[in-house]
This record gives sequence, C-alpha cells and structure tokens, in this order.
Amino acid sequence: MQPEYIVIGWPLGHSLSPLIHNASFKALKLDCSFTSEAIPLPIFERFMTSAATRYRGIAVTIPYKTDVLRFCSELSKEAALIGAANTLVTAGKKGWRGCNTDAGAVGRTLRESGLDPRGKTVILLGAGGAARAAGYQVILDGASRLVIANRTRSRADALRADLLKIFHSAAVEAVNLDAESLKTAIKGADLLVNTTSIGMYPNSGESPVPPEMITTNMAVFDAVYNPMETMLLKYARAAGARTVCGADMLLYQAAEQERLWLGVEAPIGVMRKALLSELGRGL
Ligand code: NAP
Repeated sequence: MQPEYIVIGWPLGHSLSPLIHNASFKALKLDCSFTSEAIPLPIFERFMTSAATRYRGIAVTIPYKTDVLRFCSELSKEAALIGAANTLVTAGKKGWRGCNTDAGAVGRTLRESGLDPRGKTVILLGAGGAARAAGYQVILDGASRLVIANRTRSRADALRADLLKIFHSAAVEAVNLDAESLKTAIKGADLLVNTTSIGMYPNSGESPVPPEMITTNMAVFDAVYNPMETMLLKYARAAGARTVCGADMLLYQAAEQERLWLGVEAPIGVMRKALLSELGRGL
C-alpha cells in the first residue's frame, strides 16, 4: 500500500509520528498508512510541488512549519495567526490547507493536567515554532502576563511583537535566556513552559533552568518528550513543583491531525501505549 500520510522535516531523526499514527490507523481498521521522509532543503521545493499528487496529508516539523505556508491555498485561523503550520490537509485541486494543531495541543495538555493559565504569569522558554504555538495559546487561554526568554534575543522580540499584533493589550515581555535575566523573570511565575530543545535526547543531562530557580508553587510543562522526564522536570519534581511532560502534547496534536485528515476520533489510549512502549525503550 502506498503511504498516504507523511511527516517531513530536516533532520528528521527518529520521528515517532509514524508509530503513533499507524497504531491509530490499525486500531481504527483504516486502510491507510503513515510514513516519514527526511527532506533536505535543496529538495524541499520539488517535494512540495508534487506532494499533492502523492499524499492526502502531511505532518510538518522542524524547520519547515513556516516554509510550507507558501504552498497552502488556505490557512486555518490558528495557522494564519501563529504563522506556522504543522499539518497540511488536501484542499481539493487547489492544493493544501495549512493548519496548526500544536497550539490546541498545548491548551488541551494544560487543561487536562489541571493547569489553567487564566490570570497566571507564564515564563515561556524558547521562541521557535513550538513557542509560537504555546505563547499564542496561553494568552488565548487567559494568561495575565507572558515573559518570553530566548537565547537569540531578536527572536524573542519578534515573537513578542507578533503576539501583540494578535492580542493588542496583552502583557508580553521578552528577555534573554541567561541566568541573570531568568532569575528576575522567574520570580512570581506560576507556570514555566519549556519549548527550547534543551534537555532533548541525546543531551538529556541538560536543563534550561538551574534547580535553585524552581519553586514548589510553580508548575513546569516541558514540550520535550524524549526523554519523558527531562532534567528540567526532574529538578521540578525534586522542588515539589507540578510537572507535565511533552508526551500528551505530541499525542493531542496527532489526534487533531487525524480529525482534520480523516474526520475520525483518534484512539488516544492506543497511541499513548505505542508511544510509551517506544519511549520506555530509551530512544
Ligand atoms: P525550533 O523552532 O527549532 O526552536 C528551537 C528553540 O530552542 C529556539 O528557541 C532555540 O533558540 C532554542 N534552543 C535550541 N538549542 C538551544 C540551546 N543549546 N540553548 C538555548 N536555546 C536553544 O524548534 P521547535 O519546533 O520550536 O521545537 C522545540 C522543542 O519542542 C523540541 O525539543 C521539540 O521536540 C519540542 N516540541 C514538542 C512538541 C510536542 O508535541 N510535545 C511539538 C513541537 C515541538 P534560538 O532561537 O536561540 O536558536
């Protein structure tokens, strides 16, 4: 069977998307399959030009979430506002509809973990694709103050400016991701959201925040899901803070992709089991 759904990125590494989508397709007895392809930049344009004849849906990851927008004939409201699409759905003969399921997945993960951003001060580490989705969602969900901390300060400033274009009266600040700035920014924070790739396998010994900055009354959500308990989450657990790992976000964004592609209610339990057994092997 020719795979009809695909995840693209560069470098793609060991993507877990085929595993969780194929587990779902099998459980739903759907006659389709999901594959992955690492697409280096020089062939990205060519791949996208002919992709609509070969695939019915594309999951998009680093670094193409913004680049795919120009191949879309339509955009969902979230993809247009966030400026990134992680999901392409066929839009008739006209091409692709670009959607963003990362933002909703952040919202659902926080909600189902009992972490309502409403009225809270949120520290967002990172200013890349995941940060754009998370920043948009926590303000949408009522965060009263958002502080974006990023290694490349100009990207934090750009994300702040873009969020203020959407949420005119929101309280959004941008700082450097360094010990001094974090120390000040983190005081009084209710929720810390890490969307940098610090702590991701194989650099699992690293944390974007030192342990002494994490306090009991702070909740910590790490979008990194491999390993499931990152060094940041280990520090947070040791400090008595509430912790949420990135695995649920991965599952929820995938489930929403299947709703968009196939109109199905994805079996999250089946997908979670497949994901956990793979992550448990220590990728
Ligand atoms: P991205 O667009 O490439 O952004 C990467 C971010 O990490 C940037 O803010 C970058 O800072 C920062 N960064 C990377 N290495 C760093 C280092 N050594 N020190 C300081 N900052 C560093 O990637 P993304 O799509 O946002 O993904 C980021 C992470 O979120 C990845 O680990 C990814 O697996 C995870 N993620 C998880 C889910 C999920 O479903 N759970 C979904 C999407 C992403 P600069 O701007 O300075 O380069």
